[in-house]
Amino acid sequence: MEKWRAADRLLKFSSRFASAVNWNNSCKSKQGKYFYSVATTVHRNPLFSIISPDDISYFKTLLGERGVVQDALALDAANTDWMGKYRGSSKLLLQPKNTEEVSQILKYCNSRCLAVVPQGGNTGLVGGSVPVFDEVIINVGLMRNILSFDKVIVSGVLVCEAGCILENLISFLDDEGFIMPLDLGAKGSCQIGGNVSTNAGGLRLLRYGSLHGSVLGLEAVLANGTVLDMLGTLRKDNTGYDLKHLFIGSEGSLGIVTKVSILTPPKLSSVNIAFLACEDYTSCQKLLLEAKKKLGGILSAFEFLDSDAMSLVSSTTFLGTENHGQEVIKDKHGQDFTSIDLRALPLEFWYSYASGSIFMENLEAFLLHSVESGLVANGVLAQDINQASSFWHIREGLPEALMKAGAVYKYDLSLPLEKMYDLVEEMRVQIGPAAKVVAYGHLGDGNLHLNISAPAYDDNILAKIEPFVYEWTSKNRGSISAEHGLGLMKAAKIHYSKSPETVRLMIDFDYCVFELLPDTSCLDDNHSIICLCLSA
Ligand SMILES: Cc1cc2nc3c(=O)[nH]c(=O)nc-3n(C[C@H](O)[C@H](O)[C@H](O)COP(=O)(O)OP(=O)(O)OC[C@H]3O[C@@H](n4cnc5c(N)ncnc54)[C@H](O)[C@@H]3O)c2cc1C
Repeated sequence: MEKWRAADRLLKFSSRFASAVNWNNSCKSKQGKYFYSVATTVHRNPLFSIISPDDISYFKTLLGERGVVQDALALDAANTDWMGKYRGSSKLLLQPKNTEEVSQILKYCNSRCLAVVPQGGNTGLVGGSVPVFDEVIINVGLMRNILSFDKVIVSGVLVCEAGCILENLISFLDDEGFIMPLDLGAKGSCQIGGNVSTNAGGLRLLRYGSLHGSVLGLEAVLANGTVLDMLGTLRKDNTGYDLKHLFIGSEGSLGIVTKVSILTPPKLSSVNIAFLACEDYTSCQKLLLEAKKKLGGILSAFEFLDSDAMSLVSSTTFLGTENHGQEVIKDKHGQDFTSIDLRALPLEFWYSYASGSIFMENLEAFLLHSVESGLVANGVLAQDINQASSFWHIREGLPEALMKAGAVYKYDLSLPLEKMYDLVEEMRVQIGPAAKVVAYGHLGDGNLHLNISAPAYDDNILAKIEPFVYEWTSKNRGSISAEHGLGLMKAAKIHYSKSPETVRLMIDFDYCVFELLPDTSCLDDNHSIICLCLSA
């Protein structure tokens, strides 16, 4: 029985990928049919019902017309992921306004055996936020209230609904003199519920740690409609298991997150940023170690992009021409750092960002030392907020630049720093001239974003990338998902990063604790069938 259960679960995971393959002809790949190296074609689980007119009437009574979306354009957007790579065929998007409605929806779907997929801002990059088949999409985007912000008693605890857009929370906190411990390029669309469900990392993790540290509490609704109130605001609470952690990064597979309580630090009095060119990856790596040594806790981000990434982003993104401010530092050729036009930065270099509550003097001293020791060849120091945001614009513009360039195979890997760029170079050899290998990432967190950019999706290219990239990562004890999650793309690849015993425990856990999949023994025992479609 155990084996059957495991196989069923895995089949369900891989079915998500099969759907993407069916949709996109150019993406029709043999990998889509493989699972644990056994070729298999997966179909929609027939245990799930098809939406009926009675179901629609029920949801309209529950949510009103506004909460039941059947409009073709809106559904098209909700069925398609940010990359335009994964697409479902859902006929129904539900928009609850409160936790009780989420609970009623799930209870009903459970009783009717309707599969559902939770969706936030739909900015996920692993095909987890869209339906595979015809699942009901549940989006908590109308639940966007800030419920409380305690800046007096327990400093900086924000409690909000899961549909709040990250950027709105960042602005709210800015006005209050605090900052969100999380920032990422998709902030204008992603929701805090989606961030928590993916355990998003982003640009501030180096300083503020992961959401496992800053999320103090959660409210979540299980697939059978049970509301779990774990919305604590305490820094310390060691009463039993800390179940909220299961939901952080569970990608909607255990339930729908409806409220979040998060600890936010006070705003920094001074933030400075340097955009630096290094001769090679080894210098970037050494620069990071130096920055950690010399700047320590005041360093909040250390990003990197390679010369191909810089070249790509320069061709699609406006980098600005103006340089304001006074002279700060000279590079080794005697050129003023602040007088360098970003567009003129030599493309053969690797680039690093160092950012934090660093006073200009500290940063200048650090840079002088780095230039003298040959780690930094060239670079720019932001002289004002506009320059700082134009630096971030380059880094944050990369995912979009890659999208504009054509098809992109994206890999989000944690690797030992000293090995990280070896993979990029080996991948270049492996792929040859058929595609461009572009690398950037959160160097300070040991997180590489490896992108293979090609004019169109091509089975032959994919066959050169996978399983090579996963095997390489596994061999070097890395993680095949540093921060984006597994989604449809990598659910069946989990064994590259987790031991069989760990995967087994996750599967058993889902069955025993959350009763997440239709199971004949449950049917026989007249247990409820839980229909939350696993989005991981
Ligand atoms: C330009 C760009 C830059 C990015 N940069 C980063 C980065 O630096 N770091 C990083 O970690 N990620 C990054 N991402 C990926 C993505 O933005 C994050 O994963 C984000 O946290 C997803 O939030 P979302 O609201 O869009 O969730 P969605 O994409 O809608 O969903 C993501 C997953 O969470 C589930 N989910 C969503 N909402 C809920 C909920 N309320 N309850 C339960 N499950 C839910 C979905 O089912 C899905 O599995 C980036 C994406 C883009 C497009």
